[in-house]
Amino acid sequence: MKQTIDIAVIGAGLTGLTTAHYLKKAGKNFRVIERKKVVGGDIQTGHENGFAFEQGPSTGVMSNEFVAELFEDLQGLCELERPTDAVNKRYVLYKGKWEALPSGLMGGVKTPLFTWKDKLSLLGEPFRKPGTNPNETLSELVLRRMGKSFLDYAIDPFIIGVYAGDPGYLVPRFALPKLYNLEQNYGSFIGGSVKMMREKARIEPKTDKKKKEKNRIFSVKGGLSNFMQALYQSAGTENFLLGVAGLTIVPENGIYHITGKNADGSIFELTANKVITTTGAYELDKLLPFVDETKMQNITNLRYARVLQIALGFNQWMGWQPDAFGGLISHKENRQILGVLFPSVFLQGRAPEKGALFSVFMGGVRNNNLVEKSDDEIRSLLEKEICDLMKLQEFKPDLIRIFRYNHAIPQYGADCEARFAALDQIQSEYSGLYIGGNLRNGIGMADRIKQGKELAGMV
Ligand SMILES: Cc1cc2nc3c(=O)[nH]c(=O)nc-3n(C[C@H](O)[C@H](O)[C@H](O)COP(=O)(O)OP(=O)(O)OC[C@H]3O[C@@H](n4cnc5c(N)ncnc54)[C@H](O)[C@@H]3O)c2cc1C
Repeated sequence: MKQTIDIAVIGAGLTGLTTAHYLKKAGKNFRVIERKKVVGGDIQTGHENGFAFEQGPSTGVMSNEFVAELFEDLQGLCELERPTDAVNKRYVLYKGKWEALPSGLMGGVKTPLFTWKDKLSLLGEPFRKPGTNPNETLSELVLRRMGKSFLDYAIDPFIIGVYAGDPGYLVPRFALPKLYNLEQNYGSFIGGSVKMMREKARIEPKTDKKKKEKNRIFSVKGGLSNFMQALYQSAGTENFLLGVAGLTIVPENGIYHITGKNADGSIFELTANKVITTTGAYELDKLLPFVDETKMQNITNLRYARVLQIALGFNQWMGWQPDAFGGLISHKENRQILGVLFPSVFLQGRAPEKGALFSVFMGGVRNNNLVEKSDDEIRSLLEKEICDLMKLQEFKPDLIRIFRYNHAIPQYGADCEARFAALDQIQSEYSGLYIGGNLRNGIGMADRIKQGKELAGMV
């Protein structure tokens, strides 16, 4: 039977679910169409033998006010979890040993991560001229303002942790707009940060609740799947078509005809006034085959990091007792892993009482083909690295789950400019079509929530 709806949302990951939440709140007539039989996209929690492990993110950052606002709406459906203070400490591997990333001035002076030359030269950072090339890469920017050791042992591990990426490819204007704007608007990272903090303190009173929440790290009690399920409930489960295959969208006279196969094999047909896509860039040529090929190529050429994520659990942990969020590894160290998070250290109920849960990341843009290795090969690479890095005598995990992502994290490089122009052209050519998802506007959970709310607002 052909159904007429106002809005179709393609994809039930965090972006699509947030959009759906706000559409429901506004009383709209909509459907969310999802290929998988479960909601959440990249965000899933597994539970096995006393371990609660994440596939995808373990935490997000409240980098905008939309996160706290959304959780206020979800009260009673899921509960925010504040990680322990350990979450603020991070290690960086330096010459094979974990070094705490300094947070204060004294720590910064004493740390072996950066050379004396670069530490002294940092004093001159506020006086260096801002860059003039808008497509300068992050490596070029950091070398120009901070020095090589900062690039190798602060920025490179940070970028590996966030993007599984390469600072030599990412363009700050697109990948780290806040950092880019610090230099462009205030002339320097250090001076700009100080001025911005002063301006904010003037505008936002200290008692402001939203200010207190700003930049806090968050998770959800019992795992982030509970957050996805809460959004699914709040958006109305009756508004979802899950397990859909062969989706096609055809525009005709200002409306969109949508067909696909339900999970039970039956065919559905919908007509919608508006379509919002939230899938990866690599899906769009199949989903929107009516779009001009050249414009579409500017979108589908988006590069992605391929990543392996391994949930590693021990009932009785006998190795080094970490006291931090995790440890990140610069590519200079030539290791097989990108980094390790310690979820059982900073989140509740993630491992049995005396045990430990780790989330290990491998692959990334510099080692994109590692995802093709077999489970046995991955296991033996892990054994070598974890025994060495976590001071473990014998590698006998009680939980080992390997997850492979062929399109884990989009890499915002210089080609974003042409991509964003193509997206704008397509949207103005096809009224009622909105292309969202993490192909633009940021990759973090807070960015996805912000975009989801904005997409709902637009329609
Ligand atoms: C390994 C990993 C670690 C991460 N770590 C962090 C972290 O620590 N902190 C953080 O903030 N962020 C992290 N992220 C990023 C964050 O999880 C993602 O940016 C976010 O979840 C993406 O949500 P989305 O809804 O935009 O996309 P997705 O989650 O990809 O959802 C898109 C949905 O569309 C569906 N779909 C695709 N094609 C079709 C089609 N043709 N028809 C119907 N449905 C379709 C997919 O099945 C999927 O469910 C991580 C991501 C990964 C992969």
